[in-house]
Amino acid sequence: MIIIEYFVNIVIALISAVNALNVVMSHFLSDSTTLVIVIGIFGLLIGSFLNVVIYRYPIMMKRDWQADFAEYTLEKFPPAEPICINYLQGLLAAKKAEVFNLVTPRSRCPHCGHLISALENIPVISYLWQRARCRACQQPISIRYPLVEIGSALLAGFVALHFGYGAALLAALIFTWLLLAMSLIDVDHQLLPDEMTLLLLWLGIFCNYFGLFTSLQLSVLGAIFGYLSLWTVALLFKWLFGKEGMGHGDFKLLAALGAWMGWEALPMIILLSSLVGAILGTAMLLVQGRDKNTPIPYGPYLACAGWANLLWSNQIMRAYQEIIGWLSTYLTMS
Ligand SMILES: [Zn+2]
Repeated sequence: MIIIEYFVNIVIALISAVNALNVVMSHFLSDSTTLVIVIGIFGLLIGSFLNVVIYRYPIMMKRDWQADFAEYTLEKFPPAEPICINYLQGLLAAKKAEVFNLVTPRSRCPHCGHLISALENIPVISYLWQRARCRACQQPISIRYPLVEIGSALLAGFVALHFGYGAALLAALIFTWLLLAMSLIDVDHQLLPDEMTLLLLWLGIFCNYFGLFTSLQLSVLGAIFGYLSLWTVALLFKWLFGKEGMGHGDFKLLAALGAWMGWEALPMIILLSSLVGAILGTAMLLVQGRDKNTPIPYGPYLACAGWANLLWSNQIMRAYQEIIGWLSTYLTMS
């Protein structure tokens, strides 16, 4: 009984602490300029962390897959050749020998292995201060790192300006950062990690349990129809052309977007993402001269369309109706 009382006291203390923090923050952040600046700076720091996630998370997944594959094969179908056994055991040993997650080991220069200190890790500033070069070996650092940090800050600033201080802002920030990380992982590896798409889906349903963006009913239907719509398209594509045209990660991502915005948002998200995809995809084919069979990830386009729709669904709908209205008058006149 004493333990339960102790536990209840801790929970009460935590709730009052969160309430007090909320009162202080809402007072301090009620002014929109202060809010945008504070959230923007926070966005820079999160952007720096997203760089780590985008680079390391796929490596972590690959290490897990390799170890699982090696373990399963050694146990169920042990190969006859010693060289194969050595290779599989090597994969398992490599996984066990080195801890590799989002925190460990500390970041190093990919060229010379120089340990990156806290001073060299300040978002954007370190990059400019070091003139885009490693301090130890002078090899260039990719411009993508500061771009992700600036992108994260700008998107967070927009979200803060749009929603103002409150629960919707916190939810929309997590939505934004998850989409940003997923999009870049998809660009690099043509892969949308289940842990991220499904986390986004559950978060969307959880937020709408409290009616943050839409009702719970519309959210659940959004998740179901989001998944089924792309699944049907992919099935038809496979049936017609005999090959996979879309990754299953895309179905889960659209399901997640449906969970955040409700099923009525889905047609607009699909329309917008196809439009952006067609324009950017064609531009990339023309500029880079890639052949038509190069897989183009669809995830980033879905993410862009979903993000824009969370913030500006009314404006997008109005623009759509205006274009349709303009087209119909134009077509009836001629
Ligand atoms: Zn270096």
